[in-house]
Amino acid sequence: MRIFDPAPTAKSPAGDAHPGPGTVSASCHTVAEDWKTILAQAIRNPGELCRLLELPETWAEQMVQAARGFPLLVPRSVLPRIQKGNPHDPVLRQFLPTEAELQPASGFSKDPLEEQTASPSPGILAKYSGRILILTHPACPVHCRYCFRRHFPYAEVLRDKNRPEPSVDEPGGALRLVPRVVDYLRSHPDVREVIFSGGDPLLLDDQAIEQWMKSLGAISTVRRVRYHTRMPVVIPQRVTKDFVNILKTSHLACVIVLHVNHPREIDSGVTEAIGRLRESRAILLVQSVLLAGINDSAEILAELYESIGSLGVLPYYLHQLDKVSGAHHFEVPEERGREIMEQLRRILPGYLVPRYVREVPRAPSKVPLI
Ligand SMILES: *Cc1c(COP(=O)(O)O)cnc(C)c1O
Ligand code: SF4
Repeated sequence: MRIFDPAPTAKSPAGDAHPGPGTVSASCHTVAEDWKTILAQAIRNPGELCRLLELPETWAEQMVQAARGFPLLVPRSVLPRIQKGNPHDPVLRQFLPTEAELQPASGFSKDPLEEQTASPSPGILAKYSGRILILTHPACPVHCRYCFRRHFPYAEVLRDKNRPEPSVDEPGGALRLVPRVVDYLRSHPDVREVIFSGGDPLLLDDQAIEQWMKSLGAISTVRRVRYHTRMPVVIPQRVTKDFVNILKTSHLACVIVLHVNHPREIDSGVTEAIGRLRESRAILLVQSVLLAGINDSAEILAELYESIGSLGVLPYYLHQLDKVSGAHHFEVPEERGREIMEQLRRILPGYLVPRYVREVPRAPSKVPLI
């Protein structure tokens, strides 16, 4: 397994405890303006995270152990949303490596969804009818400890042995998949929707996104493009005017599925970014993962869907945790999940209630749990 460095242009090497120019190291409330700089200056050093969040420095040691293979990664734009000195903070816990990750758990594996067998061509996952998922960018802006792709061998799945090409973090690499996907779509006219996933597709820059949209827009059988992304929430500065314009001017229908688990992730920067996204005329949805100790309560989820719903983003899926090794301590029993769903239906209007689902390998769609 290889986890990519999320910031190919990063000036500071991984593990650098000192932020580069443009930030004030003494305050975690000062972040750069430009999303690429924010990404490059993300925190990768457990000791630095402990210092900035006033956590016991001894924690850094267990973090180093737990983060082996799936490193700590938290952009500074997230820090103001975390309460200092609180190891149980619901935002922090999503990103904080802990010893629990090292304990074995039966039934948890490295590829719980058997995704590695669903790839007809490097970078393309064709599991469901009428839509394909594309691994547009292998990296993420943040490393969520419960991620089902935490062991995903991106390098292998993206590599085409017959056509050696630059990888996404080399010049020209970001678009290397375009011809392959276009070929696939031309020979599969039943595919109506292209889902950009990753990693996070919004790590591609606006030029690359524009090129993708143009190439897909030229295929008459493709109607919709969907983005599965955490970027507008993690680094809201990513929602640039150019990005909004690219979506707005494309004739393809666009759907953006954000990933948010807790209401505290939505601060004023995120609120503004969602406001900008609405100008793109894309359909805006939110998906969440049900996580023990983070959002496994109807009150918290109701608050999440109320507040994001008021911004014009409707709930999509509430996912049962995928059984990926290292994440067992985040699992909520399905029985409890169903109880929460029942309560949500009582508290919220129907349009603010998500679909509670889990993924079953080789099933023809996500499987509803209630
Ligand atoms: C969830 C998922 C999709 C999309 O499924 P929808 O039900 O349309 O949201 C597509 N491909 C993969 C690999 C998925 O996991
Ligand atoms: S942003 Fe998504 S793909 Fe990336 S680590 Fe988090 S859950 Fe996984």
